Amino acid sequence: MKVNHNFDNLVPNYLFADVARKTNEYIAAHPDKPVIRMGIGDVTLPLCKAAVDALKEGAEDLAHKETFKGYPDYEGYDFVREAIAGYYKSFGVDVGADEILVTDGAKGDSANLQEIFSADSVVLVTDPVYPVYVDSNIMAGRNIVYAPATEENGFCAMPDKSVHADLIYLCSPNNPTGAAYTKAQLKEWVDYANAEDAIIIYDAAYEHFVVDDSARSIFQVEGARTCAIELCSMSKTAGFTGTRGGYTVIPKELERDGHNIYTLWYRRLSTKYNGVSWPVQKAIAAVFSEEGLKEIDENINYYRKNAQVIMETFDRLGVFYTGGKNSPYVWIKCPKGMGSWEFFDYLLENAQVVGTPGEGFGECGKGYFRFTSFSSYENTVEAMSRIESLLAE
Ligand SMILES: *Cc1c(COP(=O)(O)O)cnc(C)c1O
Repeated sequence: MKVNHNFDNLVPNYLFADVARKTNEYIAAHPDKPVIRMGIGDVTLPLCKAAVDALKEGAEDLAHKETFKGYPDYEGYDFVREAIAGYYKSFGVDVGADEILVTDGAKGDSANLQEIFSADSVVLVTDPVYPVYVDSNIMAGRNIVYAPATEENGFCAMPDKSVHADLIYLCSPNNPTGAAYTKAQLKEWVDYANAEDAIIIYDAAYEHFVVDDSARSIFQVEGARTCAIELCSMSKTAGFTGTRGGYTVIPKELERDGHNIYTLWYRRLSTKYNGVSWPVQKAIAAVFSEEGLKEIDENINYYRKNAQVIMETFDRLGVFYTGGKNSPYVWIKCPKGMGSWEFFDYLLENAQVVGTPGEGFGECGKGYFRFTSFSSYENTVEAMSRIESLLAE
């Protein structure tokens, strides 16, 4: 037998392993020097009370014959989809509860949606990129084209009309750059996708971090219903990274190649997936209650305050960056012309601060560096004060 040799085409990604190894080696050699981790890609605050209460209630329901739940509907319970549709409505977006599918997180759908499209589809991603979009398509044997995100376009990659694409992945606010598309910029992508007969898979995992007029959903843009699928996640919004929960929106009128996309995806889901557990679905609905939204905003405001500290530090240092405002990520241009890994080593050795080298996210990430706001406030302040003293020298 043979294995899937497309896996040979994956570029080994040792980014987080290398960061961990270098950090641990430094700590072992310098036990007296406290290291602060500013590269954390996971949330650190606990679940909100509304979610925890719902999880407990849901567990109790499972303990009694009268309230026990077995297999859920593949697309999720009605009341959960209604709660999500209500949330969309709160920022002016009309999506039907029957267009929403409750998921165990956005990573799975972002990796799996490609299965319903032809093996010879041209896949377009922005560079730097969340690696899942690339690797899942390479595993399926597809070629990838890249739209560069650079200092010149503010790390908001825009479509090149001379390049054809079938499947387009966009993430806004972006991981890793923190940059968020305006609705006008997204409109260009939507027009391009409709003209190319392409589909956009839009990852809105960070939409709840948006504080200005940037897009929170691709469905805020006219024309998106005929070209876009939106993924969203409870992970960064509500701390569900370990609990697992998200949702996907597929407009009922989205069609390609004589097929309805919702119907195709539903067929794929019902074959390979059995839905999200009852306690978690209750918790998702609880997050979108009035109480829940208030509570998650308190957590997000804590991360925003950290992002503010990071942004103000680089403002004072005159270092170029994107993100921070609408995102837990601040993406800086490495000072003094340093490369990503050079800056990593320099910070670790001279300030005992760890971040993430941008080049791990793609060619256009070379010479850039990602900080996250998921540390504690105290550690963020201390790390930034060390960096400021070091770089102001
Ligand atoms: C964290 C993250 C997700 C969330 O994935 P889950 O499976 O929902 O935890 C999705 N997309 C991006 C870009 C992310 O950074």
